[in-house]
Amino acid sequence: MAAIIIVGAGLAAAKAAEALRDLGHDGPITLIGAESHLPYERPPLSKDYLQGKADRDSVFTFDADWYADHDVTVRAGVRATALDLEARTVGLDTGESVPYDDLLLATGSRARPLADADGVHYLRTLDDSDALRAVFDKGGRLGVVGGGWIGLEAAASARGAGLEVTVVEPGEQPLLRALGPELGKVFADLHRAHGVDLRTGVGVRSVERGGRGLVLDDGTTVETDAVLVGIGAIPNTELAEAAGLAMAEGGVAVDAGLRTSDPHVYAVGDIAAAENPTVGGRVRVEHWANALNQPRVAAANLLGGSEVYDRLPYFYTDQYQLGMEYLGLSTGYDEVVIRGDLAALEFVAFWLADGRVLAGMNVNVWDVGDDVRALITSRRVVDVARLADPGVPLSEV
Ligand code: FAD
Ligand code: NAP
Repeated sequence: MAAIIIVGAGLAAAKAAEALRDLGHDGPITLIGAESHLPYERPPLSKDYLQGKADRDSVFTFDADWYADHDVTVRAGVRATALDLEARTVGLDTGESVPYDDLLLATGSRARPLADADGVHYLRTLDDSDALRAVFDKGGRLGVVGGGWIGLEAAASARGAGLEVTVVEPGEQPLLRALGPELGKVFADLHRAHGVDLRTGVGVRSVERGGRGLVLDDGTTVETDAVLVGIGAIPNTELAEAAGLAMAEGGVAVDAGLRTSDPHVYAVGDIAAAENPTVGGRVRVEHWANALNQPRVAAANLLGGSEVYDRLPYFYTDQYQLGMEYLGLSTGYDEVVIRGDLAALEFVAFWLADGRVLAGMNVNVWDVGDDVRALITSRRVVDVARLADPGVPLSEV
């Protein structure tokens, strides 16, 4: 009866516990989680939950009974502080040292802090979302630092709650790194059409005490009642790094079976920099779908299997009337092809390199995932005119 410890108690950890039990592991499973909550899903924290449309119970991956019924121990509010690969023990901030037979690291990410900014909000945890929701309830002016996913989703939710919103993004467009300038502009137009004062190409020099204003690099000031900072995530890799595990891409290096450089340690979710045979290289992505699906593969391999995680990266967003799904990885693209109506926000965008599709994003167009995936994985050179023509079924491009 091997004892398995899962460090981190987010979505990936909960799904790993579920998969281990599904696959027949009957030894002890313990989750060590620094937050005081049971594992929960983060996507609603900037969308439905923040907007008050989803209740608190709905964000939890499983309820408390599930853990009891499956004999899974969750040590909530306990942080793992040390990992000894030789002795196979995890040190905790309670002073305990807990032995394991096999270990799964699922420590996720934390919000990147903005230097010298007191009294600002971040949006990573359930508690953060509750605190921001309280700001929404008061109304007034919200300043948002960073035009990434957090910044834009929170801006959309804040507009829905009636706040005045200013977003400050140093790049020329929001979501520049994720989507490139062509599609970044679509999101910029969307937010401006919904009344967001979006300032691009300018950074934030300082935040007034208590989030009472932003001083921008160009000297202008923006008066605010509260400030949300969304300037990226930092993977929680300190434990792995200090233990001497191999690192890559800012995360923990794992093979296609999600094994780290130590045979008794696996890693999944935001921290896993995994060899992906479908992508043809190592990828680390901070996506919900990864945290949902990788654990099953890691669990199977922890129990002696030889499975490979070969899914394409996938993520989604919902902002105002725009719903989208994104599949693939656009790194190194040289062309963007639009199929459908950009202005009407009903289209599929494709990123290509040398005529081959690297990634696709369907905006308010649904049930095209299989066709987009087939285009990417075929690695065929496509006829761009046919790809752009909604009259040609995607399956026939
Ligand atoms: P996490 O969810 O980060 O969980 C890790 C847990 O481990 C945390 O609770 C952390 O406190 C704990 N931990 C860390 N170190 C230790 C330690 N040493 N000891 C004990 N515990 C530790 N992705 C999408 O694809 N679509 C979306 O729409 C989307 N929306 C998002 C909205 C928000 C507000 C946020 C914050 C993220 C969103 N994401 C979205 C990203 C997605 O939520 C993450 O990719 C996912 O949560 C990663 O899961 P994880 O289990 O790897 O890590
Ligand atoms: P992000 O998507 O990386 O965006 C951060 C943005 O802030 C980028 O546009 C970045 O510009 C900008 N920025 C960086 N430093 C800045 C500074 N000092 N001042 C102003 N702007 C700055 O990260 P995020 O939006 O904070 O999201 C955090 C995590 O949650 C990520 O892992 C993200 O994937 C995840 N998340 C995902 C979703 C989704 O998939 N729908 C939704 C919410 C959150 P540069 O790129 O030029 O550095």
